[in-house]
Amino acid sequence: MAAFLARAVVAGVRWLNRFAPDFAPLPLRSAGWRLWEKLVRGHRRGQVGRMIFSENELQQHYRLLLGVASPWQVKHVKLELDEKRVEIELAWTEGAKAKCPVCGQDCTLYDYAPERTWRHLDTMQFETILRARVPRADCTTDGVKTVAVPWAEPGGRFTRLFERFAIDVLLSARSVKAAAGLLGLSWDEVDHILRRAVARGLSRRELEALTHLGIDEKSFRSGPSYIALLTDLKRRRVLDVVEGRTQAAAEALWDTLSAEQGAEIEAVAVDMGEAFLNASRAKAPQAELVQDTFHGAAHLNDAVDQVRRAEHEELMAAGDETLKGWRQWWLYNPMHFSQEQAARFAALKDSGLNVARAWAAKELFTKLWTDRYEGAARRFFKQSFGWVSRSRLKPLIPDFAFGRTGWVFTR
Ligand SMILES: [Zn+2]
Repeated sequence: MAAFLARAVVAGVRWLNRFAPDFAPLPLRSAGWRLWEKLVRGHRRGQVGRMIFSENELQQHYRLLLGVASPWQVKHVKLELDEKRVEIELAWTEGAKAKCPVCGQDCTLYDYAPERTWRHLDTMQFETILRARVPRADCTTDGVKTVAVPWAEPGGRFTRLFERFAIDVLLSARSVKAAAGLLGLSWDEVDHILRRAVARGLSRRELEALTHLGIDEKSFRSGPSYIALLTDLKRRRVLDVVEGRTQAAAEALWDTLSAEQGAEIEAVAVDMGEAFLNASRAKAPQAELVQDTFHGAAHLNDAVDQVRRAEHEELMAAGDETLKGWRQWWLYNPMHFSQEQAARFAALKDSGLNVARAWAAKELFTKLWTDRYEGAARRFFKQSFGWVSRSRLKPLIPDFAFGRTGWVFTR
């Protein structure tokens, strides 16, 4: 079982590093990591029976994984295989001074608050729960106060890492429902995280200048229900959420900023819905209206699909079934193709068909998302744009009809 858990944790850390590099809790070459590599390699060589694996090592590993520092310790790790759940019990070192959360001075310990749990990032597909009794400090100035824990914010039901990850999933998902499904949360839990994120955004908004905003919509539940979110793109946080996706909703979002703050906004990433565009033009006329890479990529995919559809109809009218059954393929990343799919796709790709040229243009363009140097990116854009404009692949040609908006990308 130890080896199984070892594999689960290793895969979990790899997954985090790949999909959420900001949250990778453990440098891959740390001592804890080497321990687990050793365990996994031992397992692969069939040495499970001879592996020495102590309770101590497991606790040490989770201490490193969670970044738990003294005086907190990992007291117990409980793996519930049937429920696909890991519970990590954290304990306070007896005799350690408790810091008052109000004035910050070291105090004697008064007692322990009742046990609480926090949902943490899954380790592989194991729901991971932290469990602890948090000490209460006996402060001479402020009275008895529960100390702050390093892994969560006061009142949170989830750890900081989980909340940040959940917000990132939410910002990337098309709907709140999709995000809730991916995270294994109920609507209420997502709502709780979102509200706390907004509260954080509000409490910090006074202090920091905002320059790059995003306005985006998400559908939630079923039917035509939408929320609109205002985000700070530089710091990846939610500033406000309102119901609806009308111009009034977008204006309500803008109204949560002061006039001075509005005047400092340099760019707003906004989907090309007229309602959001109009609100942004009215409230921050100096700001550039731009698209983020997510919407840019979606538009490009859509353009390739339009080219494919038109060409497929033309071919079918002439009795040619070359493009039949290929609808999805042009949208996939070729990195994920099987060998056979890749071979068939390669032949189509070199066929000189319009859809193949459109696809190549899209693939070329996506290089822009990762360009770090402005000068190089501008040259690249000019070249690709020139090429696309001359290609006569109409759906791909960026539409500059909406005023000053260009293809500017924010991530
Ligand atoms: Zn105090």
